Amino acid sequence: MKVLKFGGTSVGTPASLRNVKKIVEGCDEQVIVVVSALGGITDQLINTARLASQGDMTYLQTYAAIVERHINVIEEVVVAESKAQVKAKVNSLFEELGNIFWAICLLRDLSDRTMDMVVSFGERLSSVIISKMIADCRYFYSPEFIVTQNQFGKHILDNEETTIRIHETFDGAEFKSAIVPGFISTDRNGDITNLGRGGSDYTASILAAVLNADILEIWTDVDGFMTADPRIVKNAYVMDHMTFAEAMELCNFGAKVIYPPTLYPVYHKNISIKVKNTFNYEAPGTLISATSVSTSGQSELRGLSYIREISLVKFICDSSDDIQGLSERIFNALAKSGIGILLVDKALRIALKSADAKLASEVLIREFSSELRNGLLKEIALQEGLSLVAVVGNHISQNSSIFRNISEALDKEGCHVYAHNSGSADTNISVVVAKEEMESALISIHSRLFE
Ligand code: ADP
Ligand code: ASP
Ligand code: MG
Repeated sequence: MKVLKFGGTSVGTPASLRNVKKIVEGCDEQVIVVVSALGGITDQLINTARLASQGDMTYLQTYAAIVERHINVIEEVVVAESKAQVKAKVNSLFEELGNIFWAICLLRDLSDRTMDMVVSFGERLSSVIISKMIADCRYFYSPEFIVTQNQFGKHILDNEETTIRIHETFDGAEFKSAIVPGFISTDRNGDITNLGRGGSDYTASILAAVLNADILEIWTDVDGFMTADPRIVKNAYVMDHMTFAEAMELCNFGAKVIYPPTLYPVYHKNISIKVKNTFNYEAPGTLISATSVSTSGQSELRGLSYIREISLVKFICDSSDDIQGLSERIFNALAKSGIGILLVDKALRIALKSADAKLASEVLIREFSSELRNGLLKEIALQEGLSLVAVVGNHISQNSSIFRNISEALDKEGCHVYAHNSGSADTNISVVVAKEEMESALISIHSRLFE
């Protein structure tokens, strides 16, 4: 059995949906097909909800555009005899959605819970339509078996309950192709939740792992996992193969092609991932597996990633040696609040995602309140407007010429480096640069190391 996941662009237009149909119906074995919302719809749902919550009646227009797009897709891709049935189902979903938007508008109130309800419609709609387009398929509604729990105000997977429910749903179930909406889930109260933006990849991976699939295929709009984001680096090229660890490192540092949590479930079951292009299905794609197949002569460099919005927390003091257990306390305090550290340099500058920066400052100021009072620490300062660029490779710290090349590439562009971790990690070298210099830094480093 295989699990296939089709992202937003793959299911975004009638033409791309025809490719999806061809790919799925062309599989000889049993398949589970996880689908995203039509490309761009999740953003439009969020935007419409925000307009409604401000009492801005133009929400009715953006809502109407969402309706029209789905109806148009049904007209184009669903066979005549199923059209009335799909339209009836889709219209009832739209009636519910329209009422939710109206309630948001009346109350001028948009809670996280309501937003979760709103965004769920993207995958609910797309999956219903696609299930009426694929021959010989059966529909499975993911909130019945993907369960989340709350941690640090975020929905995270409730692994135990999800595993039980996936087995209850799929063990012994008969189907050639199963259609499953990605991204959406429920909590144990039965409220609709989701796995985070980009989360359809994760839905597919969870199913693949629990059901011991032979492979997880991520179908998207590029030929595979590339050496850098092709929207910025025009000379980026596809890597034939990567290990889980390498892909994980690239994704954790922002490579959008796979949602980071996706890698863990399949990695633990040693189920390989193939990244494939819905628009060029003959292309071999990228295989992500446990073992490295690098041949002699292949570079140990794997790719470049970036995180556009990061902040630096800086510890300003005369001597950090005077502060007992400084690093350990920083790591513990941030970990307890669920904040991930991207980089720490020798001068104790800590890079974090900007979304975490305010909470991180508060947590650290609380942790070091006595040192701040007695003057051992002068200040815990926050610097914003920065980006992080990560060069990922194996044994990267052992090769001093790599950091030298990165520095020269940045010098050439006149990019100032605010922090870097060279020498402290074996799998990546990360540099912090000004946000407006990030793209030129990426292009320049790519040209020097990968071309
Ligand atoms: P989907 O809708 O299929 O989930 P995403 O937009 O989430 O697709 O991810 C695919 C996109 O990721 C590509 O179109 C590409 O622009 C971008 N991307 C960023 N970094 C990389 C990379 N290293 N390799 C391939 N694609 C990348
Ligand atoms: N539709 C969701 C999003 O846009 C999930 C996904 O596409 O994976 O984030
Ligand atoms: Mg995606």
